[in-house]
Amino acid sequence: MQETPQVATALADQTVLPDSSEKAASCLDNPPEETISIRFTNFVSANGHSFNFEPVVRTWSKKNKNLPIHIGRYTDKYNGGNVSAVVFRSKVVSRRHAQVFYEGGEWYVQDLGSSSGTFLNHIRLSPPCETSKPYHISNNDILQLGADYRGGEEMHYRCVRARIELNNSWRIKLSRFNLEEYNRVRSLISKATEGSKEDAPVSECCICLTPVLPCQALFVAPCSHTYHYWCIHPTLQKNHPYFNCFICRKYHDLSTPVEEGELELRELMKHATVVDKSP
Ligand SMILES: [Zn+2]
Ligand SMILES: [Zn+2]
Repeated sequence: MQETPQVATALADQTVLPDSSEKAASCLDNPPEETISIRFTNFVSANGHSFNFEPVVRTWSKKNKNLPIHIGRYTDKYNGGNVSAVVFRSKVVSRRHAQVFYEGGEWYVQDLGSSSGTFLNHIRLSPPCETSKPYHISNNDILQLGADYRGGEEMHYRCVRARIELNNSWRIKLSRFNLEEYNRVRSLISKATEGSKEDAPVSECCICLTPVLPCQALFVAPCSHTYHYWCIHPTLQKNHPYFNCFICRKYHDLSTPVEEGELELRELMKHATVVDKSP
């Protein structure tokens, strides 16, 4: 149950990098896993609203790996008794709504008999008030708790929609695609400033479906997907400081200071061979 970032794959396949670069980038895609972790971020669908919440991360060492994480509605009692619980102040979430747990190297979600249901990638796990069997969860699955009540006009009547990311997969890393897009943007800049007559590699803005060209104002998301600034700025303003990339659906916090992770990123860049296509 995983969405494929089709555009990203298609672009990444177009350019063949030298062996060393390919190798470096693929190593960086698979950092060693020392801890087990899970992150819940607010998933804002393109046409709907949802319950707003800050990103929630739970991390622990492998020896405690079988601890279930309870998910439910915020109450003083519940929250105080279980510090690892993930709680939401939404009335459509039951007090004991669901749990996620890690077993045999995989993550699972289970509805604990909620009244309004747990949905994994839009499929309801069990009838009202019945415990479900455990369902396997994959990176980037969408977990929904409950359904909007009274049209969800008020925040506390909205269902919770969360994207699930597993085992630090949200941390900074470089892929071939990131490096290629970095070079693509650099070559656009050099074409504009140095008047190079070579054809700049062209990518499309997924909103207006026209090419991204030199001298246009651009927005490059941390996932390296590029948009015309003019096309994306209404979305950026609406959800500031959060941005769900339309192409890969990755969640970004745009209020992250530049210094955060900069050293780590420089270190990653050192070990990756960046193909410099500028003249
Ligand atoms: Zn555009
Ligand atoms: Zn993206």
